[in-house]
Amino acid sequence: MQKKVKEDFFKASWKYEEAPESTNHIQIKKQYDLFIDGQFVKPVGNKYFDTIDPSNHRKIASVAEAESEDVDKAVKAARKAFRSWSKISGKERGKYIYRIARLIQEKAREFSVIESLDGGKPIRESRDIDIPLAANHFFYYAGWADKLTYAFPNRNPTPLGVVGQIIPWNFPLLMAAWKIAPALATGNTVVLKPAETTPLTALKLAEIIHESGIPNGVVNIITGAGKTGALIVNHPDINKIAFTGSTNVGKYIQKAIAGTSKKLTLELGGKGANIIFEDAAIDQAVEGIVNAIFFNQGHVCCAGSRLFVQESVADLVIQKLKNRMETLIVGNPLDKNTDIGAINSKKQLETIKNYIEIGTNEGGEIYQPKCSIPKKGNWCVPTLFLNVSQSHRIVQEEIFGPVLAIQTFRTIDEVIEKANNSPYGLSAGVWTQKGSKIFNLTQKLNAGVIWANTFNKFDPVSPFGGYKESGFGREGGLHGLKPYVKFESYFN
Ligand code: ADP
Repeated sequence: MQKKVKEDFFKASWKYEEAPESTNHIQIKKQYDLFIDGQFVKPVGNKYFDTIDPSNHRKIASVAEAESEDVDKAVKAARKAFRSWSKISGKERGKYIYRIARLIQEKAREFSVIESLDGGKPIRESRDIDIPLAANHFFYYAGWADKLTYAFPNRNPTPLGVVGQIIPWNFPLLMAAWKIAPALATGNTVVLKPAETTPLTALKLAEIIHESGIPNGVVNIITGAGKTGALIVNHPDINKIAFTGSTNVGKYIQKAIAGTSKKLTLELGGKGANIIFEDAAIDQAVEGIVNAIFFNQGHVCCAGSRLFVQESVADLVIQKLKNRMETLIVGNPLDKNTDIGAINSKKQLETIKNYIEIGTNEGGEIYQPKCSIPKKGNWCVPTLFLNVSQSHRIVQEEIFGPVLAIQTFRTIDEVIEKANNSPYGLSAGVWTQKGSKIFNLTQKLNAGVIWANTFNKFDPVSPFGGYKESGFGREGGLHGLKPYVKFESYFN
């Protein structure tokens, strides 16, 4: 084909018609109260805040703001419920958790649409990743509920009590599942707070929890911003805090509970290294780079936001990556063709834009594909930076957006040193045909999760968590049970 004809052919064949997911099957209330002791109750201060659709700034619903008295009510309900919940058999507990999993599956379509409306992520991701994984998490931990003595042989595991759980806005339902499922399986009761920009799927989950028939007070879901989170953290009758969010807030929480007997797990920020060797399957690796950084608009603590490409293939990889970026569709989260949805909040968009400016001012070479974005809403074009080095702020600091910093390397030792030169230690990826290289690197990279020839793959069976400023404690797998139990034997 002649060049011009070929270009026209590809342009024509890659034009997608709109394919929006329908919203007429979902039920969203105008106003949501606090879910305490098995019922939705009005907040004592009668204050509500709006949750909005980040793709068009339209209000979706108003949501209650919990104050000190509300938090106290939720903790009291959880404490009361703990007395009987911790005594019932693991088999009985498992049945309730299993029922919650089944109900999430039944309402999966509704959950997916609400997740995309409230948070801005593409419907393909909420439909195929977030919601099925959330259900799987409940299924998985339902299975552990009556097998705790096998998980911890000879150690007599017992629950901690009331756990306070605070989750972020990037995977709202999935993070609720990561937190609630292991806590219930081990016999604890819960006070959970979703993030203020994405409370709706957690509140839908509250409806399901009610429907499951689980005893009142075992799970309490209260809404509000950081202030409400801090009230949970500082409540004297809470036995454990599980937090996922920014490193700054994580540090604040760690200080706040120092000197108390509260237990703590923190899953914080990251700056994952994604390493491409010259012997990798290049086309697959390019797809992996896209998935590592542009999945969920880059709002992913384990995103592969630092790319290291072996020098001999750097030109090829970067050219292929740029070509691939030209085809990414940014736009309506509810359209099934969309690859990159809306940025979760105006505040986060400001942060990302600020980092793009910092990268440019520090001398980085910026590349953004030509793509159209809607006029209204929070949007960011996928972005990469070349000509950056270890000292650039966009290489060191977490951006939490679709912005990739690319560096090259020559030897294995060099890339290990560069990859580990980070305050974070959450994730990494390695692309090579050689198993020996994979094993060599996984031993030497300081990261809690390392993917080989893939990226951003999650499974309830597999533990997840970080080192250094990425936090401590593990979620998922058998490891994810441990932060919710204490041991009553001298094998401690
Ligand atoms: P980001 O900065 O990316 O928005 P945050 O760490 O602020 O992420 O938010 C994660 C969760 O922590 C949210 O549910 C938020 O309301 C909560 N949060 C924010 N500040 C505090 C705080 N001081 N104490 C407890 N929770 C907080």
